[in-house]
Order: sequence, then C-alpha cells, then structure tokens
Amino acid sequence: MKQASRECGDCTLCCKLPLIEDKELQKKEYTWCKDCEIGVGCKIYSKRPKVCKDFKCEWLLGHFPEHARPDKVGFYGTTENLHSLTEKVFTLYAVEHKIHQIEKNLSKFRIVDSDGDEWRYCIRYNGNDDDLGVYDRKRFGERVLFGKRGEIIWQKTMEITLWWTLQKVKNLNKWY
Ligand code: SF4
Ligand code: SF4
Repeated sequence: MKQASRECGDCTLCCKLPLIEDKELQKKEYTWCKDCEIGVGCKIYSKRPKVCKDFKCEWLLGHFPEHARPDKVGFYGTTENLHSLTEKVFTLYAVEHKIHQIEKNLSKFRIVDSDGDEWRYCIRYNGNDDDLGVYDRKRFGERVLFGKRGEIIWQKTMEITLWWTLQKVKNLNKWY
C-alpha cells in the first residue's frame, strides 16, 4: 500500500463517529467528543489522550486515495482488529446523511494486495451496532448491501457468514 504525507487539516470525523472506550476518554458512537471544535480540530490537541495520538485512519496513512479525504467523502476507513487484516476487511465509519453517496465514492477506488486480493468494506453509518452495510465488489458488484448483522449472516454465503462472525469479535477499544 502506498504511503503518503497527509494531514488531517480541518477534518474531525474520527472525533464523532467511533466508540472510544479508553481510560482517558469515554465517548459514545456517533456523538461529538466534548473536546472537539467541529470542523476545526481538537481543543486539547497537545494534551489529547494517547488513543487519539495513536490513531490514524487509512486515508491519513496513505492507503486510501487522495480524493477520499474523510471530510470530503463523508467516511473514513480503519482496520479494527487482527481479523480485519487477515480477512482484508476495512471498517468504514460513514456520516449517515452522506451514506447515499458511498457507492459512487467506493466505485472510484480499489485497494488490492500484492497477492491480487481486493479488500472489502464493512460499513457503519449510525450508532446502532447492528445496522451495517457490506461492500464486496467481487461477490456483489458495485453496491452496498444493508441489513442487520443477523440478516446478513443468514442470507449470504458461508464466506460472508464467517466474515460477519469475525466482525462480531469486538475489541474493548475499537480503534485497533
Ligand atoms: S478521520 Fe482521518 S483525516 Fe479525519 S481527523 Fe481522523 S485521522 Fe484525521
Ligand atoms: S480528545 Fe481531541 S482528538 Fe480525541 S476525540 Fe476528542 S477532540 Fe478528537
């Protein structure tokens, strides 16, 4: 994956969308952190918790294309745990009112490993942990399938069942 030198600028999406369960910071999903100046940055930047200092979304890491800056497209990507890496599934945290644009944005890029496998996407778009979208171009084409965790498990192939089972393995801190 290509590395790039990028900066968050006035993007603050990861200060709202994820659950942060950390001894220094407790924040619910899809609510702004109390220390965020929305669209500007962190009000306690130099003293922000370690979990914030350590986090970099896939765009910031240079793995997502330049045009997919999170505050422009309305989502950011991350790998939440070791299974994400072995199964090649990015978790996307999307702004709910921009979810209708996500197919168009995802159709513009393709993340492929050196072995030729294309990464898939598990999409969160609200504070309900069971509401999910799946973007898997190889199996379902360029469209997002929406559903509840259980529905997707029972409707789709064995491979997707396994994928969802893995997605339910949550870390205490979802930023990893
Ligand atoms: S979502 Fe990415 S680019 Fe935006 S503030 Fe967080 S780390 Fe920076
Ligand atoms: S402490 Fe700062 S960097 Fe961390 S979530 Fe809150 S506003 Fe964002």
